[in-house]
Amino acid sequence: MQEQSTTTTTTETRAFQAETAKILDLMIHSVYSNREVFLRELISNASDAIDKVRFQALTDAALRDAGDHDYSIVLQPDAEAGTLTIRDNGIGMTYDEVIENIGTIARSGTAEFVRRLEEAQKSGDMALIGRFGIGFYSAFIVADKVELRTTRHDADHGVRWTSAGDGSYEIERTAAGSRGTTITLWLKKAGESDDEWKDFSQAWVLRDVVRRHSDYVTFPIVLETRKEPEADTEQGGDEAVSADPGVERETLNRQKPLWARDPKEITADEHAEFYRHLTHDWNKPVDHVHFSVEGMHSFTALLYLAERAPADLYAREGRRGLSLYVRNVFVMDQCRELLPEYLRFVRGLVDSPDLPLNVSREMVQEDRRIGAIRKVLVKKLLDRFGVFAKEERETWEKVWSEVGPVLKEAFHYEPNQQDRLEPSLLFRTTHGDGWSSLEEIAERMQSGQEALYYLVGDDLATLRNSPHLEIFRERAVEVLLLTDPIDHVALINMPKLKGFEIKDAADPSIDPASIGGEVSEADSAADDKATAADEGQLEALVAALKERLEESVADVRVSQRLRGSAACLVAGPDAPPPAVERMLRAMGEAAPERKRTLELNANHALIKRLAAMFAEDAEQQQIVEIAELLVDQSLIALGERPRDVAAFARRLADVAGAAVGA
Ligand code: ADP
Repeated sequence: MQEQSTTTTTTETRAFQAETAKILDLMIHSVYSNREVFLRELISNASDAIDKVRFQALTDAALRDAGDHDYSIVLQPDAEAGTLTIRDNGIGMTYDEVIENIGTIARSGTAEFVRRLEEAQKSGDMALIGRFGIGFYSAFIVADKVELRTTRHDADHGVRWTSAGDGSYEIERTAAGSRGTTITLWLKKAGESDDEWKDFSQAWVLRDVVRRHSDYVTFPIVLETRKEPEADTEQGGDEAVSADPGVERETLNRQKPLWARDPKEITADEHAEFYRHLTHDWNKPVDHVHFSVEGMHSFTALLYLAERAPADLYAREGRRGLSLYVRNVFVMDQCRELLPEYLRFVRGLVDSPDLPLNVSREMVQEDRRIGAIRKVLVKKLLDRFGVFAKEERETWEKVWSEVGPVLKEAFHYEPNQQDRLEPSLLFRTTHGDGWSSLEEIAERMQSGQEALYYLVGDDLATLRNSPHLEIFRERAVEVLLLTDPIDHVALINMPKLKGFEIKDAADPSIDPASIGGEVSEADSAADDKATAADEGQLEALVAALKERLEESVADVRVSQRLRGSAACLVAGPDAPPPAVERMLRAMGEAAPERKRTLELNANHALIKRLAAMFAEDAEQQQIVEIAELLVDQSLIALGERPRDVAAFARRLADVAGAAVGA
């Protein structure tokens, strides 16, 4: 949706992009359980803006020489006016940037955010909303009018942007000011029903909120208040020397980077706050890995695992990699080289004292130190996932269901890490509806079972009903049900899993005697009772169908694997398993149509009747029609389409008609 504009000479009024207006509306009208988070968001933005300018000054002489490198974020409350002003001397924005960054939310996660917000509203779980971070717009939770003034370091103009959060904003060019951004909030007044209303124009409120939400910010957050000659001097932060004798300045945060602190002393809340600050992600971190390495390549890493996968997990242009710091100074966002693609759901940072401050993307690509750090990170993470999967199984299941397919790529790219990966793997299997670990599957293995069997397909429901599972069920042998496309590439090409050979349950050459397990007594009794088709009749039928179904199948034979179904299809001679064929086709690769083999269940009433019919009159056309139906029905059981849908429908109607004597 395009913005409309009514242009006067200098001031433009623009409508918010449709989605922006929707978010604003949702936010303003939902009771934010935690209104104070707006401050964390604005401070976080200010801190990012300073990171950017500080980094650019490393290579930009003009910027360096321009001075103003005393970076800080200043909070100016004014209780009388009912305002709060937040000022930074960061990078600032141009006119176009303000429209792009503030007037639109073009980021990929937005739609997802709106969805979750609506979900939270519907379920009435407002606490959920309070956990979201939503950046600049959160200002409208506490303000009924917001003014942003900004000047980019290299721009010839400044910008003034205002909005009442009601669907439109005004924007105008102004004379260039000093570098940075100043945001003024006209604070909403407490309503009658607001029990725990906090007045953000009060110094003590700001002090408290900053300490709890923004303590780790690496730049000083300075509270600037007008000095009352006889005001009581509340203690609490470093008193900074002020140039203006009428102004009192107090630094509110410790500024010690979180990752430089003792891991034992950092609370879960602090991690959650920091995670949001670092990633701008409203997700909840469920685990972290925080460690330092001393030696050849010294570094500290702080890595987070979130409960939900990032929305851009499969987007080509999605966020990747970690933030890179050099001695507490931010030098690079999304440093892809620090993590392999299959760990792209991990967020966090690395701080290395050995790298130069002006490290470039090109340099990072070739730097041996980065490669060495990456190796350590991979090991630490994979080991941690294994432990986490065991200790926090329920949470890991949630994480796994979203990122499992990505993590499994590791089997393909780093087969030598298999031992590290196995403990974190979870599978759907024929045992119950939930997830199983390899350890659990191994514990349940049957006597005489030497291999792990798997079945691949598009969806669990089809797999669970597959005729291929019938002999496995009879012997209580568990089968892994694989439905992720990556399974074809990664898992089933592994020589072994947890020391066991892995085999396709749909393998045409499978021998029931070799799969292990025992036929339960009830089943074998049923087997005895069931009389197979007359051998001679069946042989004659099979031989005839081989010929008459020549167009449809490569071969026809008596099945060893079927118990309940009349027929099934298995891969023909020299053909890849049907599931692999389907995958190749789904990937747009030409998979030559190879005919499959039709297997018939000698114990099934239909097959017995067909064999008898054939013995009575070998020329009955109905026999071939029914056999053709069996081929299509077997395709459907594999989750595929009948070869010729119209012909299938006609045959079905004919056969059904004949059955009722029509
Ligand atoms: P996010 O920070 O998650 O990207 P925001 O809505 O908070 O989303 O901000 C949108 C963008 O506006 C930021 O990415 C940044 O480019 C710009 N921005 C916000 N605040 C500032 C600021 N104080 N200084 C410079 N740029 C800012």
